[in-house]
Amino acid sequence: MVRGGADSAQEPELEDDWHAALAAAIRDHTTLLHHLRLDAVLTTSSDAAREFPLRVPWSYVKRMQVGDPHDPLLRQVLPVDEELQITPRFTKDPVADGNARVAQGLLQKYQGRGLLIATGTCAVHCRYCFRRHYPYQEEPKTLADWEPALAHIEHDRTLREVILSGGDPLLLTDQRLEELITRVQQISHVTRLRIHTRLPIVLPNRVTDELLEILRRTRLTPIMVVHANHANELVDDAAGALQSLVRQGITTLNQSVLLRRVNDSVSSQRDLCERLVDLGVLPYYLHQLDPVAGASHFEVPLSLGREIVRELQTRLPGYAVPRYVRELPGQPQKTPLL
Ligand SMILES: *Cc1c(COP(=O)(O)O)cnc(C)c1O
Ligand code: SF4
Repeated sequence: MVRGGADSAQEPELEDDWHAALAAAIRDHTTLLHHLRLDAVLTTSSDAAREFPLRVPWSYVKRMQVGDPHDPLLRQVLPVDEELQITPRFTKDPVADGNARVAQGLLQKYQGRGLLIATGTCAVHCRYCFRRHYPYQEEPKTLADWEPALAHIEHDRTLREVILSGGDPLLLTDQRLEELITRVQQISHVTRLRIHTRLPIVLPNRVTDELLEILRRTRLTPIMVVHANHANELVDDAAGALQSLVRQGITTLNQSVLLRRVNDSVSSQRDLCERLVDLGVLPYYLHQLDPVAGASHFEVPLSLGREIVRELQTRLPGYAVPRYVRELPGQPQKTPLL
């Protein structure tokens, strides 16, 4: 196919402003498949998309291989019929978040750490997401809504670390984020602020100077945990965003999910880990897929996962090998699988 005016109109120059980039994210499969020259090759599932819509920013799409129906980035975001399979073990709340909810918007499963659902939305919809059925609309939307959670953190002096999660907490505006951080840092027993976010990977221009400044200003020690699953995600603007965090001196870790036909090989995992380390980001966790309804086609057998990680241990420096874990409801920590 020839690149013509109509096509280039479909692929806007990446927006400088992250709000604009978010607003321009692709939400219909026709645009996505046409851009990738896959309209004749791939179909999407409108039933799957109705349950959990397609959503993907252009920055991420630009890192997909045009013409490749098996692209590992595309596979993470395209709604497919396999999601409609009913698999008994795969349920709506596989990690029992419901039981860990200690206040509106606050989950506490592990000692010393409280996890705040800072917002319900994400810039990308990952098809394997374990929170794809989470009742986000019940979670706080304004600073006042977080007060019960903050009061709980204030009263529990064992809590040293507050984890901002979601959804994606970096979808909060800088102003809202700073308000929340200011409120958290008033709690004297809290020393660390962890941010679980996929935005440096999928919407890299979210890593603004102002954001870095907010993280520099807080008395809390910031720790950024990003989420990339494949080395192809770690190029161009995403690589730049990670380097900005690292150069600012922020401890930056990555968690990934072991996904069938995305990253279920030694070479794919090795490339991911090496690329991360070369950017100054340490591989933290490799998660066994949580058995969430609609994601069973992404499952990799434990035996294969163990084989891959054992092989990584022989090929990579110790710090470059993530901990292979899974989350079992009711356990006091993520359960090591090796
Ligand atoms: C994973 C998780 C944490 C953080 O666990 P770490 O092992 O410290 O990374 C905290 N709270 C909840 C609810 C979690 O799911
Ligand atoms: S960014 Fe994280 S929370 Fe959001 S859909 Fe993807 S995996 Fe789920």
